[in-house]
Amino acid sequence: MRKLQEILEKIKPQTKSKWEWQILPELKMPVWVVKGNQSGKVLAISAGVHGCEYVGIAAVKRAFESLDADKISGMILFFPLINAAGFYQGKKQIMPLDEERKNLNRIFPGKRDGTLAERLAHRLEEQLYPEIDFLLDLHGGDIDEDMQDLLFFSENVSKTVRDVAENIASCMPIPYRLCSQAENGFYSRAAKMGTPALLLEIGSGGKFCDEEVIRCLECIEVAQRALGIVQGEVSVNQEQKCSQRTEYVFAASDGFWHRMAKAGDRVKKGDVLGEIKSLEDVLLQRVIAKFDGVVWYGQTGFGVSSQTHLLAYGAEE
Ligand SMILES: [Zn+2]
Repeated sequence: MRKLQEILEKIKPQTKSKWEWQILPELKMPVWVVKGNQSGKVLAISAGVHGCEYVGIAAVKRAFESLDADKISGMILFFPLINAAGFYQGKKQIMPLDEERKNLNRIFPGKRDGTLAERLAHRLEEQLYPEIDFLLDLHGGDIDEDMQDLLFFSENVSKTVRDVAENIASCMPIPYRLCSQAENGFYSRAAKMGTPALLLEIGSGGKFCDEEVIRCLECIEVAQRALGIVQGEVSVNQEQKCSQRTEYVFAASDGFWHRMAKAGDRVKKGDVLGEIKSLEDVLLQRVIAKFDGVVWYGQTGFGVSSQTHLLAYGAEE
């Protein structure tokens, strides 16, 4: 199997090229590369970890097409479809090729001898992270989620890694950046291993529109400029707020989900955000806001199973 490093070594300066990385014996992954004629930072931009989060997938194609290799320093690696089967088969959240249909973004660092998704995570960590200076992982609200535009950066990492990620986030045209303690995702594991990284959420409900794709392209442009890959200024988005506290709520049982707050809503401590009822209308769970805040995202499905992620809300600071 060809290592990513071997592909990258072959790439000539001032070129744009498309490759297939044989990342596992049974899996090829497209990687598109733009390399400038001067040395510089290496940025990876990934989409399609979740196959039905379309804004980033559409944006990656346009970002690659719009770049001129003569005008950049360093290199940009585009991964338009990390989980291609999830995209083509329209499967929300999971990797359909995985034996246990796992969610790739919950299993990092993966395993050398695990299921397909676990081995993929392991290989990404082993071969991609060492090659790059920054990872921007593009997501959005899945088919059954509504979503406020958000950025996530990792909290429990080295100060340098956290500062680089947070500084770039703070220049993006996104209203909120969230400090996250998660460590098992593609971007959060990269940060843990010393590569600054962000997760960007734009769009909702497995839909996308031109306006959202343009907003995503603006965020990509910020990352490219901030890293000195593309020339141009960046400035802090004065309207962006940072949230240090997020509450994640899960279903305690199967049932009918009656949601009472949607993404972007401001809520007060004590507000009822939703209820799960049985088929016979017996109240099974009531979700009450523990503090004043904003709903980041929520489950839009009417039927939910135990442990379904119902919603997340956080404090505005
Ligand atoms: Zn996602």
